Amino acid sequence: MKRRDFIKTGTISLVASGSILTQCDSPIKKVKNNPIVLSTWDHGISANNSAMDILNNNGTALDAVESGVRVTEADPSSQSVGLGGRPDQDGHVTLDACIMDSDGNAGSVAFLRDIKHPISVARKVMKLTDHVMLVGAGAKRFALENGFQEENLLTDKSKEEWLQWKRDNSVKDSWGPNDEHDTISTLARDNEGNLSGACTTSGLAYKLHGRVGDSPIIGAGLYVDNEIGAVGATGKGEEVIKTCGSFLVVELMRQGYSAMDACEEAVNRILRKQSGKSDFQIGYIALRKDGQVGFSAIHDGFQYALYKKNENKLYDVKGIG
Ligand code: ASP
Repeated sequence: MKRRDFIKTGTISLVASGSILTQCDSPIKKVKNNPIVLSTWDHGISANNSAMDILNNNGTALDAVESGVRVTEADPSSQSVGLGGRPDQDGHVTLDACIMDSDGNAGSVAFLRDIKHPISVARKVMKLTDHVMLVGAGAKRFALENGFQEENLLTDKSKEEWLQWKRDNSVKDSWGPNDEHDTISTLARDNEGNLSGACTTSGLAYKLHGRVGDSPIIGAGLYVDNEIGAVGATGKGEEVIKTCGSFLVVELMRQGYSAMDACEEAVNRILRKQSGKSDFQIGYIALRKDGQVGFSAIHDGFQYALYKKNENKLYDVKGIG
Protein backbone atom coordinates (compact mmCIF):
# COMPACT_ATOMS: atom_id res chain seq x y z
CA MET A 1 0.00 0.00 0.00
CA LYS A 2 1.16 3.46 -0.84
CA ARG A 3 2.47 5.71 1.86
CA ARG A 4 -0.14 8.31 2.61
CA ASP A 5 0.76 11.89 3.05
CA PHE A 6 -1.02 12.26 6.36
CA ILE A 7 -1.58 15.76 7.48
CA LYS A 8 0.56 16.28 10.51
CA THR A 9 -1.90 18.44 12.36
CA GLY A 10 -4.75 15.95 12.03
CA THR A 11 -5.86 13.61 14.77
CA ILE A 12 -7.28 10.16 14.12
CA SER A 13 -10.22 8.84 16.08
CA LEU A 14 -11.88 5.44 15.94
CA VAL A 15 -15.64 5.24 15.93
CA ALA A 16 -17.60 2.41 17.48
CA SER A 17 -18.25 0.70 14.14
CA GLY A 18 -14.54 0.21 13.75
CA SER A 19 -14.21 2.54 10.77
CA ILE A 20 -11.64 5.29 10.93
CA LEU A 21 -12.59 8.91 10.76
CA THR A 22 -9.87 11.44 10.54
CA GLN A 23 -10.59 14.91 11.81
CA CYS A 24 -8.29 17.73 10.91
CA ASP A 25 -8.60 19.90 14.02
CA SER A 26 -6.45 22.66 12.66
CA PRO A 27 -6.70 21.55 9.10
CA ILE A 28 -4.62 22.29 6.10
CA LYS A 29 -2.60 25.46 6.14
CA LYS A 30 -4.21 28.56 4.73
CA VAL A 31 -1.85 30.30 2.33
CA LYS A 32 -2.39 33.96 1.52
CA ASN A 33 -1.14 36.09 -1.35
CA ASN A 34 -0.31 33.17 -3.58
CA PRO A 35 -3.21 32.78 -6.01
CA ILE A 36 -3.61 29.57 -7.99
CA VAL A 37 -5.98 28.52 -10.75
CA LEU A 38 -6.43 24.94 -11.95
CA SER A 39 -8.68 23.88 -14.83
CA THR A 40 -9.51 20.81 -16.87
CA TRP A 41 -8.38 20.34 -20.48
CA ASP A 42 -6.64 22.71 -22.88
CA HIS A 43 -9.48 25.22 -22.85
CA GLY A 44 -8.37 25.66 -19.23
CA ILE A 45 -5.49 27.86 -20.39
CA SER A 46 -7.69 30.74 -21.48
CA ALA A 47 -10.05 30.17 -18.56
CA ASN A 48 -7.07 30.37 -16.19
CA ASN A 49 -5.90 33.63 -17.79
CA SER A 50 -9.22 35.28 -17.16
CA ALA A 51 -9.48 33.89 -13.63
CA MET A 52 -5.93 35.00 -12.75
CA ASP A 53 -6.62 38.55 -14.00
CA ILE A 54 -9.34 38.74 -11.37
CA LEU A 55 -7.14 37.28 -8.63
CA ASN A 56 -4.25 39.58 -9.50
CA ASN A 57 -6.62 42.50 -8.96
CA ASN A 58 -7.44 41.16 -5.52
CA GLY A 59 -10.73 39.66 -6.67
CA THR A 60 -12.36 36.70 -4.99
CA ALA A 61 -11.93 33.08 -6.01
CA LEU A 62 -15.66 33.04 -6.74
CA ASP A 63 -15.42 35.90 -9.26
CA ALA A 64 -12.33 34.27 -10.72
CA VAL A 65 -13.85 30.85 -11.43
CA GLU A 66 -17.00 32.35 -12.90
CA SER A 67 -15.03 34.66 -15.14
CA GLY A 68 -12.71 31.81 -16.18
CA VAL A 69 -15.35 29.35 -17.31
CA ARG A 70 -17.37 32.09 -19.02
CA VAL A 71 -14.51 32.35 -21.52
CA THR A 72 -15.01 28.70 -22.45
CA GLU A 73 -18.80 29.01 -22.47
CA ALA A 74 -18.57 31.88 -24.97
CA ASP A 75 -16.07 30.12 -27.24
CA PRO A 76 -17.87 28.35 -30.11
CA SER A 77 -14.78 26.27 -30.86
CA SER A 78 -15.13 24.56 -27.47
CA GLN A 79 -17.74 22.03 -28.55
CA SER A 80 -18.34 20.65 -25.11
CA VAL A 81 -19.34 23.79 -23.26
CA GLY A 82 -21.88 26.61 -23.74
CA LEU A 83 -22.15 28.20 -27.17
CA GLY A 84 -21.30 25.64 -29.86
CA GLY A 85 -21.73 22.69 -27.52
CA ARG A 86 -22.65 19.43 -29.20
CA PRO A 87 -26.39 18.82 -29.01
CA ASP A 88 -28.39 15.91 -27.67
CA GLN A 89 -29.87 13.21 -29.91
CA ASP A 90 -32.66 15.58 -31.00
CA GLY A 91 -30.34 18.47 -31.90
CA HIS A 92 -30.92 20.54 -28.75
CA VAL A 93 -27.96 22.03 -26.89
CA THR A 94 -28.72 21.43 -23.20
CA LEU A 95 -26.33 22.78 -20.60
CA ASP A 96 -25.38 21.81 -17.05
CA ALA A 97 -23.34 23.92 -14.62
CA CYS A 98 -22.65 24.52 -10.96
CA ILE A 99 -20.65 26.83 -8.75
CA MET A 100 -19.54 26.68 -5.13
CA ASP A 101 -17.96 29.31 -2.91
CA SER A 102 -15.70 29.31 0.12
CA ASP A 103 -18.64 29.55 2.53
CA GLY A 104 -20.09 26.30 1.21
CA ASN A 105 -22.82 28.04 -0.77
CA ALA A 106 -23.77 26.35 -4.02
CA GLY A 107 -25.88 27.04 -7.11
CA SER A 108 -26.65 24.84 -10.06
CA VAL A 109 -28.61 24.59 -13.29
CA ALA A 110 -29.23 21.53 -15.43
CA PHE A 111 -30.89 20.75 -18.74
CA LEU A 112 -30.87 24.48 -19.51
CA ARG A 113 -31.45 25.58 -23.10
CA ASP A 114 -30.75 28.78 -25.08
CA ILE A 115 -28.68 30.57 -22.42
CA LYS A 116 -24.97 30.97 -23.18
CA HIS A 117 -23.71 31.36 -19.62
CA PRO A 118 -25.23 28.68 -17.41
CA ILE A 119 -22.51 29.28 -14.82
CA SER A 120 -23.79 32.81 -14.22
CA VAL A 121 -27.35 31.51 -13.94
CA ALA A 122 -26.09 28.98 -11.38
CA ARG A 123 -24.43 31.80 -9.44
CA LYS A 124 -27.69 33.76 -9.48
CA VAL A 125 -29.55 30.69 -8.17
CA MET A 126 -27.00 30.60 -5.33
CA LYS A 127 -27.25 34.33 -4.64
CA LEU A 128 -30.94 35.13 -5.11
CA THR A 129 -32.74 32.00 -3.92
CA ASP A 130 -32.54 29.54 -1.08
CA HIS A 131 -32.55 26.68 -3.59
CA VAL A 132 -29.46 24.98 -4.96
CA MET A 133 -30.62 23.63 -8.30
CA LEU A 134 -33.01 24.66 -11.07
CA VAL A 135 -33.58 22.56 -14.18
CA GLY A 136 -35.04 22.78 -17.67
CA ALA A 137 -37.83 25.23 -18.36
CA GLY A 138 -37.77 26.49 -14.77
CA ALA A 139 -34.07 27.30 -15.00
CA LYS A 140 -34.60 29.08 -18.31
CA ARG A 141 -37.51 31.12 -16.95
CA PHE A 142 -35.40 32.12 -13.95
CA ALA A 143 -32.55 33.13 -16.28
CA LEU A 144 -34.80 35.25 -18.50
CA GLU A 145 -36.40 36.89 -15.47
CA ASN A 146 -32.92 37.80 -14.27
CA GLY A 147 -31.75 39.52 -17.42
CA PHE A 148 -30.14 36.71 -19.41
CA GLN A 149 -30.76 36.73 -23.17
CA GLU A 150 -32.19 33.83 -25.12
CA GLU A 151 -29.96 32.78 -28.01
CA ASN A 152 -29.40 29.90 -30.38
CA LEU A 153 -26.41 27.91 -29.12
CA LEU A 154 -26.26 25.37 -31.95
CA THR A 155 -23.49 26.50 -34.29
CA ASP A 156 -23.34 25.39 -37.94
CA LYS A 157 -20.35 23.18 -37.16
CA SER A 158 -22.02 21.34 -34.28
CA LYS A 159 -25.23 21.04 -36.32
CA GLU A 160 -23.36 19.55 -39.29
CA GLU A 161 -21.63 17.00 -37.07
CA TRP A 162 -24.91 16.07 -35.41
CA LEU A 163 -26.57 15.59 -38.82
CA GLN A 164 -23.65 13.41 -39.86
CA TRP A 165 -24.06 11.37 -36.67
CA LYS A 166 -27.73 10.88 -37.54
CA ARG A 167 -26.88 9.87 -41.11
CA ASP A 168 -24.40 7.33 -39.76
CA ASN A 169 -27.27 6.04 -37.65
CA SER A 170 -24.85 5.62 -34.80
CA VAL A 171 -26.18 3.95 -31.71
CA LYS A 172 -23.28 5.32 -29.72
CA ASP A 173 -22.46 8.84 -28.70
CA SER A 174 -19.11 10.09 -29.82
CA TRP A 175 -17.65 9.79 -26.35
CA GLY A 176 -14.22 8.26 -26.16
CA PRO A 177 -11.06 8.68 -24.18
CA ASN A 178 -9.45 11.02 -26.66
CA ASP A 179 -12.46 12.92 -27.91
CA GLU A 180 -12.18 16.64 -27.55
CA HIS A 181 -15.49 17.46 -25.98
CA ASP A 182 -15.07 17.88 -22.31
CA THR A 183 -16.31 19.79 -19.37
CA ILE A 184 -14.46 22.72 -17.93
CA SER A 185 -13.96 22.70 -14.19
CA THR A 186 -12.01 25.64 -12.79
CA LEU A 187 -10.76 25.78 -9.20
CA ALA A 188 -9.16 28.86 -7.66
CA ARG A 189 -7.50 30.10 -4.52
CA ASP A 190 -7.48 33.87 -4.00
CA ASN A 191 -5.16 36.23 -2.14
CA GLU A 192 -7.11 35.66 1.06
CA GLY A 193 -6.41 31.92 0.74
CA ASN A 194 -10.07 31.12 0.03
CA LEU A 195 -11.26 28.54 -2.49
CA SER A 196 -14.09 28.38 -5.02
CA GLY A 197 -14.96 26.20 -8.01
CA ALA A 198 -17.07 26.23 -11.17
CA CYS A 199 -18.02 23.48 -13.57
CA THR A 200 -19.91 23.83 -16.88
CA THR A 201 -20.66 21.57 -19.84
CA SER A 202 -22.97 20.62 -22.67
CA GLY A 203 -22.52 17.05 -21.50
CA LEU A 204 -22.08 13.96 -23.60
CA ALA A 205 -22.59 14.50 -27.29
CA TYR A 206 -25.89 13.14 -28.70
CA LYS A 207 -27.07 12.09 -25.26
CA LEU A 208 -30.69 11.14 -24.69
CA HIS A 209 -32.95 14.17 -24.45
CA GLY A 210 -33.21 15.03 -20.76
CA ARG A 211 -29.95 13.39 -19.72
CA VAL A 212 -28.07 15.24 -16.98
CA GLY A 213 -24.50 14.32 -16.07
CA ASP A 214 -22.31 14.91 -13.05
CA SER A 215 -21.32 18.48 -13.86
CA PRO A 216 -24.24 20.30 -12.18
CA ILE A 217 -24.38 17.90 -9.23
CA ILE A 218 -22.72 19.26 -6.11
CA GLY A 219 -20.38 16.56 -4.81
CA ALA A 220 -20.16 14.80 -8.17
CA GLY A 221 -18.81 17.19 -10.84
CA LEU A 222 -17.61 19.74 -8.30
CA TYR A 223 -17.06 20.12 -4.58
CA VAL A 224 -15.43 22.81 -2.48
CA ASP A 225 -14.66 22.72 1.21
CA ASN A 226 -12.69 25.78 2.19
CA GLU A 227 -11.04 23.92 5.07
CA ILE A 228 -9.73 21.18 2.82
CA GLY A 229 -9.73 21.78 -0.92
CA ALA A 230 -11.63 22.06 -4.19
CA VAL A 231 -12.18 19.27 -6.72
CA GLY A 232 -13.60 19.08 -10.24
CA ALA A 233 -14.39 16.17 -12.51
CA THR A 234 -14.68 15.45 -16.19
CA GLY A 235 -15.55 12.37 -18.18
CA LYS A 236 -18.46 9.96 -18.12
CA GLY A 237 -20.69 11.67 -15.59
CA GLU A 238 -22.74 8.63 -14.71
CA GLU A 239 -19.71 6.99 -13.12
CA VAL A 240 -18.77 10.15 -11.24
CA ILE A 241 -22.31 10.49 -9.87
CA LYS A 242 -22.39 6.86 -8.72
CA THR A 243 -19.23 7.35 -6.67
CA CYS A 244 -19.92 10.94 -5.44
CA GLY A 245 -16.58 11.63 -7.08
CA SER A 246 -15.59 15.18 -6.15
CA PHE A 247 -16.94 14.86 -2.63
CA LEU A 248 -15.00 11.62 -2.28
CA VAL A 249 -11.75 13.29 -3.28
CA VAL A 250 -12.29 16.12 -0.77
CA GLU A 251 -13.13 13.65 1.98
CA LEU A 252 -10.04 11.58 1.21
CA MET A 253 -7.91 14.71 1.47
CA ARG A 254 -9.62 15.44 4.80
CA GLN A 255 -8.51 12.00 5.94
CA GLY A 256 -4.93 12.82 5.06
CA TYR A 257 -4.52 11.64 1.48
CA SER A 258 -2.40 13.87 -0.69
CA ALA A 259 -4.30 15.61 -3.49
CA MET A 260 -2.74 13.16 -5.93
CA ASP A 261 -3.52 10.00 -3.96
CA ALA A 262 -7.08 11.19 -3.38
CA CYS A 263 -7.67 11.69 -7.12
CA GLU A 264 -6.14 8.30 -7.89
CA GLU A 265 -8.26 6.54 -5.30
CA ALA A 266 -11.43 8.11 -6.73
CA VAL A 267 -10.48 6.89 -10.21
CA ASN A 268 -9.67 3.47 -8.79
CA ARG A 269 -13.09 3.22 -7.13
CA ILE A 270 -14.58 3.47 -10.60
CA LEU A 271 -12.05 1.14 -12.18
CA ARG A 272 -12.62 -1.55 -9.56
CA LYS A 273 -16.30 -1.64 -10.54
CA GLN A 274 -15.22 -2.16 -14.16
CA SER A 275 -12.86 -4.98 -13.22
CA GLY A 276 -9.99 -2.61 -13.91
CA LYS A 277 -10.89 -1.90 -17.56
CA SER A 278 -13.02 0.80 -19.09
CA ASP A 279 -13.69 2.25 -22.50
CA PHE A 280 -14.70 5.58 -21.01
CA GLN A 281 -12.64 8.40 -19.60
CA ILE A 282 -12.77 9.98 -16.15
CA GLY A 283 -10.50 12.79 -14.99
CA TYR A 284 -10.19 14.58 -11.65
CA ILE A 285 -8.35 17.72 -10.62
CA ALA A 286 -7.85 18.74 -7.00
CA LEU A 287 -6.53 21.89 -5.39
CA ARG A 288 -5.76 21.43 -1.74
CA LYS A 289 -6.08 24.51 0.43
CA ASP A 290 -2.32 24.66 0.99
CA GLY A 291 -1.78 24.76 -2.77
CA GLN A 292 -1.00 21.10 -3.35
CA VAL A 293 -2.35 19.98 -6.74
CA GLY A 294 -3.65 16.53 -7.68
CA PHE A 295 -4.95 14.94 -10.86
CA SER A 296 -5.76 11.52 -12.20
CA ALA A 297 -7.48 9.93 -15.19
CA ILE A 298 -8.34 6.50 -16.45
CA HIS A 299 -6.83 6.96 -19.91
CA ASP A 300 -4.04 9.00 -21.45
CA GLY A 301 -5.33 12.11 -23.16
CA PHE A 302 -6.59 14.04 -20.15
CA GLN A 303 -4.93 17.40 -19.63
CA TYR A 304 -5.07 20.07 -16.96
CA ALA A 305 -3.99 23.71 -16.99
CA LEU A 306 -2.28 25.12 -13.92
CA TYR A 307 -1.62 28.82 -13.38
CA LYS A 308 0.64 29.61 -10.45
CA LYS A 309 3.62 31.84 -9.80
CA ASN A 310 3.11 33.80 -13.04
CA GLU A 311 3.11 30.68 -15.23
CA ASN A 312 0.08 29.19 -16.96
CA LYS A 313 0.92 25.73 -18.32
CA LEU A 314 -0.85 22.74 -19.80
CA TYR A 315 0.09 19.26 -18.52
CA ASP A 316 -0.63 15.78 -19.89
CA VAL A 317 -1.92 13.19 -17.45
CA LYS A 318 -0.91 9.59 -17.79
CA GLY A 319 -3.91 7.31 -17.42
CA ILE A 320 -3.94 4.73 -14.64
CA GLY A 321 -6.57 2.47 -16.22
N1 ASP B 1 -18.83 15.04 -17.25
C1 ASP B 1 -19.56 15.44 -18.42
C2 ASP B 1 -20.90 14.78 -18.41
O1 ASP B 1 -20.97 13.60 -18.08
C3 ASP B 1 -18.88 15.10 -19.69
C4 ASP B 1 -17.53 15.67 -19.90
O2 ASP B 1 -16.76 15.89 -18.97
O3 ASP B 1 -17.25 15.92 -21.04
O4 ASP B 1 -21.86 15.40 -18.79
